Amino acid sequence: SYVGIHSTGFRDFLLKGELLRAITDCGFEHPSEVQQKCIPQALLSVDILCQAKSGLGKTAVFVLTTLHQLEPVPGEASVLVMCHTRELAYQIKNEYARFSKYLPDVKTAVFYGGTPIQKDIELLKSKDTFPNIIVGTPGRLNALVRDKVLSLRNVKAFVLDECDKMLDQIDMRRDVQEIFRATPTEKQVMMFSATLPKEIRPICRKFMRNPLEVFVDDETKLTLHGLQQYSIRLSEGEKNRKLNDLLDSLEFNQVIIFVKSTVRATELDKLLRECNFPSIAVHSGVSQEERIKRYKEFKEFNKRICVATDVFGRGIDIERINLAINYDLPGDADSYLHRVGRAGRFGTKGLSISFVSSETDEEVIKQIEGKFQAQIPPYPEGGVDSSTY
Ligand code: ADP
Ligand code: MG
Repeated sequence: SYVGIHSTGFRDFLLKGELLRAITDCGFEHPSEVQQKCIPQALLSVDILCQAKSGLGKTAVFVLTTLHQLEPVPGEASVLVMCHTRELAYQIKNEYARFSKYLPDVKTAVFYGGTPIQKDIELLKSKDTFPNIIVGTPGRLNALVRDKVLSLRNVKAFVLDECDKMLDQIDMRRDVQEIFRATPTEKQVMMFSATLPKEIRPICRKFMRNPLEVFVDDETKLTLHGLQQYSIRLSEGEKNRKLNDLLDSLEFNQVIIFVKSTVRATELDKLLRECNFPSIAVHSGVSQEERIKRYKEFKEFNKRICVATDVFGRGIDIERINLAINYDLPGDADSYLHRVGRAGRFGTKGLSISFVSSETDEEVIKQIEGKFQAQIPPYPEGGVDSSTY
């Protein structure tokens, strides 16, 4: 199967019984290919630099292996996980909660900007709430480290999810480096992404010692086989009408619609709600509390349509999304790959439709088709059979 399932089970990794029970509760039956490749090495504290397709379970690699190795000491932070957006940090924290449910001594906390730092400080001041596992975004974490509210001198595992994104933005990279310097030399480092451009790899390696490296150098192999991808040529002025038609005619469970700015997200969401579509918008223009609230609403299936900027372009895992629409095409091929990867998680079926309305868009489509050797044919006149996505 394209998920890469072999006959190995999670049992073969000799994980703690408490973890195996949680894995069973989550309904995981077999480890995916990336899990097979990385988990045994990660359990031996080997550093890991890992590129693997979207939706095939990179999160469980670091969540399970850090939990297995963790011996929680009250008041000590042993595991540090960082990623590029607040919603993703929140999601990863929940993954830790899911897998540590039979490990009652393990405490996890998430820290990110846009919320009162005083709350974080209070949580870190009390031994009763001080986390053994810390998940967060670099800006807030660095502030806590600089203010000496958070000590990282007991960290044994340092993880970057969406590592290429974290290291190619200069501000974020600086925070990551400062945080890294506050951790002990002796520790395990793991980094993950679906895209790992060759220029970024040496930068990743600077943080690591003899890592196990898993790359997908043949980029055509990053294409998700369960995902059907189409394009629609139209003018900017025709987009709303077309979107309306698509949402009316397609049978989707949940849909994510990507736009290029917060203003456009707000406006499109408003328009959809005026047309009685159950929509919400997630972007950086709303308060942090509200962002997480909306993320939860969508994840819990209370809303079926989400209009989002690239804050939801990577990492976000929502099981029922089987349709991704690029209302505005992204600016590059890697962003496209991450965005459409929101549909078709863990090898399930999905559909993506991209609006192409300018010369620049045509260029991007060419770049995508060239890089991933995927065809993005015009959306068929008669639509697509709903049993196929
Ligand atoms: P990635 O980070 O590689 O894009 P995720 O870690 O977000 O992918 O996982 C995608 C989805 O697959 C999640 O909903 C996760 O719970 C599920 N998943 C991961 N591993 C397994 C497995 N071995 N069996 C079944 N589902 C899995
Ligand atoms: Mg991920």
